[in-house]
Amino acid sequence: PYDVLIVGGGPAGAAAAVYAARKGIRTGVAAERFGGQVNDTLAIENYISVLETDGPKFAAALEAHTRAYDVDIMNLQRADKLVPAAEPGGLIEVQLANGGTLKSKTVILSTGARWRNVNVPGEAEYKNKGVAYCPHCDGPLFKGKRVSVIGGGNSGVEAAIDLAGIVQHVTLIEFADQLKADAVLVNKLKSLPNVTIHTNAQTTEITGADGKVNGLKYKDRATNVEHTVALEGVFVQIGLVPNTEWLKGTVELSRFGEIIVDAHGRTNLPGVFAAGDCTTVPFKQIVIAAGEGSKAALSAFDHLIRMPVV
Ligand code: FAD
Repeated sequence: PYDVLIVGGGPAGAAAAVYAARKGIRTGVAAERFGGQVNDTLAIENYISVLETDGPKFAAALEAHTRAYDVDIMNLQRADKLVPAAEPGGLIEVQLANGGTLKSKTVILSTGARWRNVNVPGEAEYKNKGVAYCPHCDGPLFKGKRVSVIGGGNSGVEAAIDLAGIVQHVTLIEFADQLKADAVLVNKLKSLPNVTIHTNAQTTEITGADGKVNGLKYKDRATNVEHTVALEGVFVQIGLVPNTEWLKGTVELSRFGEIIVDAHGRTNLPGVFAAGDCTTVPFKQIVIAAGEGSKAALSAFDHLIRMPVV
């Protein structure tokens, strides 16, 4: 069995693996796709000490750093089920989609999250070419330009307020007939001079030319009239979904499906820790996921050295 088994090989999982392996304990990582979300990222300009890199380079560096240690990397392996230890101090099982079972004294869950798509023509085609999902990451790329934010919940309205301070103009598009964000955020948004809000508006297409976004089409749901907004960027803010469906009923999750962790990265199950975008830790960023992964590995080690000698 492993001392530490990490499920998920994004920044959180890779950091956890390096920290665990440096303690000289048996460490494994099972990941559906090593590297995680950074594989789909273009420019990364906010990983501290790295002025600028790109996603594939960053993913390759994560893997190289992990492989520099004695870590079993099981790539292209999806976990299907977590079976808690039968008795205190017993082994925890992770069942894989391929039918195999991995056993470990401690487990770190770092399965990340995925942005919900609007699924309109142009979204996939112009992803990273004007279509973005993370205002903290990509906001500065649109400095002085016109953007739209799709989604009027808390994340959409927060994104619109954030972007309004950087870009020339923000058009917020909400499907429902009113914004669902907290009143304090909505009031703040409405006070900004360079923001236009359209409610009851259904995004129908993201248009582009020469490989770049140049507009967004929406239908006014009251009149059925279609409108076009000329712009350079579209931020899709209709939800970040944690990859925790497979944990329902075993580990305690928040109402958003995030794994509930304490300040040490501990879940409600003894010996099971979690880190990164799949958890309740706020702000989904690479540097935060990496920090949380390191923390979870140190907590797992702390747990191991306290296990009774058998
Ligand atoms: P992830 O990166 O999501 O990794 C999850 C891992 O778990 C993957 O290996 C996945 O394959 C695996 N996995 C999932 N389910 C299972 C399962 N059932 N069994 C086994 N493995 C599983 N952040 C920044 O700080 N700066 C940026 O510039 C930036 N740009 C971004 C641009 C885009 C387009 C996107 C999508 C995100 C961006 N982010 C950026 C956010 C950043 O990528 C995430 O915060 C970070 O990757 C989270 O790391 P993680 O390890 O928690 O999860």
